[in-house]
Amino acid sequence: MNIPVYLDNQATTRVDRRVIDAMIPLMDEVYGNASSTQHEYGWRAEAAVAQARRRVAALVGADPDEIVFTGGATESINIALKGAARSLRGKGNRIITTGTEHRAVLDTCLSLEHEGFEVVRLPVDRFGLVDPDDIARAMSPGTILVSIMTANNEIGTIAPVAAIGALCRDRGVLFHTDATQAAGKIPVDMHAMQADLLSFSAHKMYGPKGVGALALRAARQNGPQAGRPPVRLTPLLDGGGQEKGIRPGTLNVPGIAGFGVAAEIAAAVMPEESRRLSGLRDMLVDGITGGVEGAGLNGHPVLRLPHSANFLFPGARADAVMMAMKDIAVSSGSACSTASPEPSHVLRAIGLGREETLCSIRFGLGRFTTEEEVAYAIGRVTETVTQITQRGTHAVPVH
Ligand SMILES: *Cc1c(COP(=O)(O)O)cnc(C)c1O
Repeated sequence: MNIPVYLDNQATTRVDRRVIDAMIPLMDEVYGNASSTQHEYGWRAEAAVAQARRRVAALVGADPDEIVFTGGATESINIALKGAARSLRGKGNRIITTGTEHRAVLDTCLSLEHEGFEVVRLPVDRFGLVDPDDIARAMSPGTILVSIMTANNEIGTIAPVAAIGALCRDRGVLFHTDATQAAGKIPVDMHAMQADLLSFSAHKMYGPKGVGALALRAARQNGPQAGRPPVRLTPLLDGGGQEKGIRPGTLNVPGIAGFGVAAEIAAAVMPEESRRLSGLRDMLVDGITGGVEGAGLNGHPVLRLPHSANFLFPGARADAVMMAMKDIAVSSGSACSTASPEPSHVLRAIGLGREETLCSIRFGLGRFTTEEEVAYAIGRVTETVTQITQRGTHAVPVH
């Protein structure tokens, strides 16, 4: 057992050894620039990128031509939302999203708002679900873009993305989904969900940090539209024209190759891994809700990621619990917003009071989590939370 027990797999994951092994030669002997078309070093790097492109595309049901490699999901999201909005400025002004998106989407939308776009942030229900009817109602004729995450990084709730995609396609509105928590964990197929743009990242699926992808749909029907994307994204960077000019800059060949291996492994082990992790997750939920009086589960009871659980411990502040339990690595809110001490915007959006959000902790299991570690965590959480609530120093009325 590794102490601290790592249960923060929504923040990032350990890189799979097979991924590391595949990356090393691409930093060592195969160090060419994938854009060097005139010699063997370049050709070998380009072959590694092409193989990775096939593997990463397959994970999300895309064609290799539909994949743009980026520096991570935050960058993919910025390219998708700013690129589409700026490109469609003449067509309309409205962007529809929810209040429970990752900061990468929320802050990009805020920045677009400052550019003059109108952003509609729809509410979610107490499980974190957005109602597609609310999206339909918010679709004014000037609506250009809808962005809804596939699965939430704090509470694990899985959105009705196929219904949303169908609605957007029907109305001729672009649909972007942030699939960063979902890809590699649950089946994701951008064409089945009728997404035009889909963002995801290697480091959430046992790949390296600093590499991600944006899948940009290409029309599959025959005729003049064949292979055409539904939008010509305005690039954020100018440069050497790599990735069709959508994301110029020398490709991160080792990172991209590692992403490819991570995607291939994720697809291969998904049914088995998801079964194993949801079993461990249920063990964690039963253990903690059975052991800690009053403990509750935040998020949807069924429509949720297999590896994720978010608990409310009434009367026990998350920071106090985590300080007293340094042998368990968990998180309150999301790692990406630790710069701001604000209570989680996701938990607030599903209706938790301010105090309740401060008494909630997220647990994320992963490929390397063992049953022994889960049993240990249940014991430590139960004794720590019980002690803190009974001591009462941090007990605050919950409303
Ligand atoms: C981690 C995460 C991101 C950001 O991904 P990076 O690759 O770290 O930029 C975006 N959205 C969700 C849902 C995430 O979980």
